[in-house]
Amino acid sequence: MLTEVKANYGRLRNLINGEWVEPDVSGWLDVENPATTGVIAEVPLSTASEVNDAVAAAKQAFLTWRETPPVLRARSLFKLKGLMEEHFEDFARTIVQEHGKTIEDARGETRRGIENVEVAAGIPTLMQGFGLENVASGIDAEAIRQPLGVFGIIGPFNFPLMVPNWFIPYAIATGNTVVVKPSEQTPLAQTRMAELALEAGIPAGVLNVVHGAKDAVDALLEHPDVRGISFVGSSPVARYVYSKASAEGKRVQCGGGAKNFLVAMPDAHLDSTIDNMMGSIFGAAGQRCLAGSVVITVGNAYEGVRDRLAEGARNLKLGYGLDESVGMGPVISQRALDRVLGYVDKGVEEGADLIVDRRSARQDEELAGYFAGPCVFDGVEPQMAIAREEIFGPVAGIMRADSLDEAIGHIEALPFGNAASIFTASGGAAREFRHRVTAGNIGVNVGVAAPMAFFPFGGMKESFFGALHAQGREVVDFFTDRKVVISRWF
Ligand code: NAD
Repeated sequence: MLTEVKANYGRLRNLINGEWVEPDVSGWLDVENPATTGVIAEVPLSTASEVNDAVAAAKQAFLTWRETPPVLRARSLFKLKGLMEEHFEDFARTIVQEHGKTIEDARGETRRGIENVEVAAGIPTLMQGFGLENVASGIDAEAIRQPLGVFGIIGPFNFPLMVPNWFIPYAIATGNTVVVKPSEQTPLAQTRMAELALEAGIPAGVLNVVHGAKDAVDALLEHPDVRGISFVGSSPVARYVYSKASAEGKRVQCGGGAKNFLVAMPDAHLDSTIDNMMGSIFGAAGQRCLAGSVVITVGNAYEGVRDRLAEGARNLKLGYGLDESVGMGPVISQRALDRVLGYVDKGVEEGADLIVDRRSARQDEELAGYFAGPCVFDGVEPQMAIAREEIFGPVAGIMRADSLDEAIGHIEALPFGNAASIFTASGGAAREFRHRVTAGNIGVNVGVAAPMAFFPFGGMKESFFGALHAQGREVVDFFTDRKVVISRWF
């Protein structure tokens, strides 16, 4: 068993203008380790006055940060990357402690979080504009990119380090300044990242952290000096943030929830398909926005997939993710556990066949935390709530279809469009799937189709609100304004 970096992080503070300050709060919330239910920190529920102070600091810092040459801004990010590498294992263990995922999964998240710092360090190239000499006789035109000012970045609980890092390094690299509002359920990894950013020499006020919940978010959305918002969370909150921030005249990008389907064709390679599906459905206890939720088997793919998936779910070892032999951890909270178990009850009521039922996991004396236990439903029908709504827990549904066309029809009928995967040996089937399916992330024989930092991470339908996605070039577009200069010399 690996050890925790710290057993308790005490009362967290906000980072404003380079100082960790005692916050003005409406209350404090316990941060729990979901695998043990032990309290590991207290997070401040900051008021608008904290946000106002942070935005004022960020606005002031912008004046000099935007004048810092991109090459020098990039050097600070290289330094941050080096520090993050040095503390790689600490990040991973902290993520396990606050989130409950397995250590392997937390290492994967840490790697992805760092990769975004690496890519953003290429800003002298990424931020270049373009030009054309002689657009008319003796006249030259040049498009340049400039930072806008202060951005608010609001994260979800399920990737405490990686998701805010889809935005933070790029916002800073382009010369903007930020106020980050981490998830109040998992605030530790971003707190550590901000400490290292200071150590890396990123100047005071460039990166500020304000902990809290709705009040802090609303204060960011309403603040006239916040020029834009990057948000990731559930669809109802994403829609709210998108509407409110746009009404305030800000640029906004909001990632929302998901319901991801995995299609198994009769010619799929069974062993690798099941491995991929297991990782997709039960990895992070189903709490990934790219998690597979419903498996559609086409034709005679059904029996093999059903039996092997059920077997895998029965054999998954549950426990605290710091034990390297554990295959699945808990869900994040009692509320999340109640929601997941509620969906399992609903599936039974709706008439689906619960072929793997490990709900009793929470009665296991060795598992003190919020363990939902993997469940598998067979006989799932498209109109059922378990087939349409985001469960965000370790519950798989199996649905049958006679053809790829029918399977695609079920996916297209969903309100969400975050991810979808096909498992097949046929190039034709794969091509048809990627062409027709309305989802931001498509997997072909890949269960978790997570774009790397130099590709955009987005979604479609209710899974994304906005035009420009996270990561890579698209997020550089989001964080810059384009200006065209036309010049003539007499
Ligand atoms: P959430 O919507 O509950 O919270 C996200 C953030 O919004 C948190 O920082 C929270 O403090 C804040 N918030 C919550 N309620 C609010 C309100 N009423 N007004 C203003 N702010 C509010 O989401 P979560 O439970 O932390 O994260 C899980 C969700 O995020 C899932 O739905 C998952 O699919 C989604 N997600 C999506 C992506 C993506 O790329 N689309 C990535 C990761 C997670």
